Amino acid sequence: MAKQRKPAAKRYYRKRVALLRLIDKIKLWPSRRGILHGIRTIERLGAQARVTTHCNKQFLVNDSRNSRAARWLRNKWFQGICPQCGVPDWKLEKFSATRFRRHHGSDLLKPGDPS
Ligand SMILES: [Zn+2]
Repeated sequence: MAKQRKPAAKRYYRKRVALLRLIDKIKLWPSRRGILHGIRTIERLGAQARVTTHCNKQFLVNDSRNSRAARWLRNKWFQGICPQCGVPDWKLEKFSATRFRRHHGSDLLKPGDPS
């Protein structure tokens, strides 16, 4: 059966989903100043990753479930969208339709991932 392209279908992820798996999926990053950036690449370096945004910011991210970024993404705390990243509307709609649940939802594990 063909996949239906419904706009902004709700999706559920675990609250404790690993941060790097989460940003690998949603490709958004909340900066400390509350600006949502689009992620261009995520390069895994063991327990960290080097993240490059579309506006060419680079930084190292720890794979924590309880970091500031993980909490802000779960709670969708951001004040604005980075004008240089050009995050498309469909991606923001998808993000706003994403729910985080304690007992229900995907851990975003891929086959072969350590849990
Ligand atoms: Zn940006």
